[in-house]
Amino acid sequence: RSKELGRQRVTFFEPEMDAALRNRRSLEADLRDALLNDGLEMVYQPQVDRLGNIVAVEALVRWHHPLRGSIAPGMFVPLAEEGGLILALGEFVLRRVFAETGHWTHTRVAINVSAVQMRAPGFAALVTRLAAAAAINPSRYEIEVTETALLGDDAITASNVEALKRLGFSIALDDFGTGYSSLSVLQRFAVDKIKIDRSFVSNLGVGDESEALVDAMVKLARALNLDVIAEGVETEQQRDRLLGCGCREFQGHLTGMPMGLRELVGLVGEDMGEEIAQPAQMPSEI
Ligand code: C2E
Ligand code: MG
Ligand code: MG
Ligand code: MG
Repeated sequence: RSKELGRQRVTFFEPEMDAALRNRRSLEADLRDALLNDGLEMVYQPQVDRLGNIVAVEALVRWHHPLRGSIAPGMFVPLAEEGGLILALGEFVLRRVFAETGHWTHTRVAINVSAVQMRAPGFAALVTRLAAAAAINPSRYEIEVTETALLGDDAITASNVEALKRLGFSIALDDFGTGYSSLSVLQRFAVDKIKIDRSFVSNLGVGDESEALVDAMVKLARALNLDVIAEGVETEQQRDRLLGCGCREFQGHLTGMPMGLRELVGLVGEDMGEEIAQPAQMPSEI
């Protein structure tokens, strides 16, 4: 089988391809292998209230490449988006997270969903199927999308968001404030929560505008009856300033690093559940 794969790969490497493109193609092939051979895993980062209690976790995908070591999702998620693998990657994430957390009793779970997934006809139907198969309670789950994903007038995106909401999932706007259309998106979609982007948090105490911006975002959230969380909180000073702005939920290295399932369940007092002996069922999209 590896011989076959090897032969296939040779056909990718046309001599006229430049090095960057070859490198991409080879990483794409490796990512496909990782999806087929259980090479990806999920880590979970705590989201805490002002007392430091963990109220939720964000699921984040990790890829440990056999030769290149760990590759950041900020690199391979866009690669998957451009190379046609994102639906398979997204399905893997949903299956794995539902399998690992579906039996939890008190900790909410946030899952990142790509704009490409949201634009795919049948995405909500897929989530419905996976949620039913894993017997999860959608009201314990939050779908994170960037505001850019909701930009524009895409009818399929709108119907996916509405269907997910009807199922009981909540919707959080990730990286809030960095897109083009934050305010119109809030008006158009029944968003439940905003995640103040790390760039505003890391500037707190450096440039004074960021404090005014964070303050305005928290007020906006309150006026629209939305939940709000700050991401990328690294220092006590940042948390104090966020508290001063009225922000009551935090995620970042200060309050908890992303960690493996076993460590996380110990920390929050959930159950490990059944061991996942088999790789999650192969995503149907590949
Ligand atoms: P994101 O959804 O905004 O996730 C937050 C990112 O900030 C994570 O990076 C997290 O590890 C990092 N982070 C958390 N606290 C801190 C902090 O205090 N300081 C700093 N500097 N960083 C912090 P990560 O895991 O590398 O993920 C990067 C991005 O990749 C995510 O940004 C998300 O857009 C995407 N991503 C990750 N997992 C998935 C996934 O399962 N599916 C999809 N579609 N995208 C994913
Ligand atoms: Mg996120
Ligand atoms: Mg974010
Ligand atoms: Mg971010």
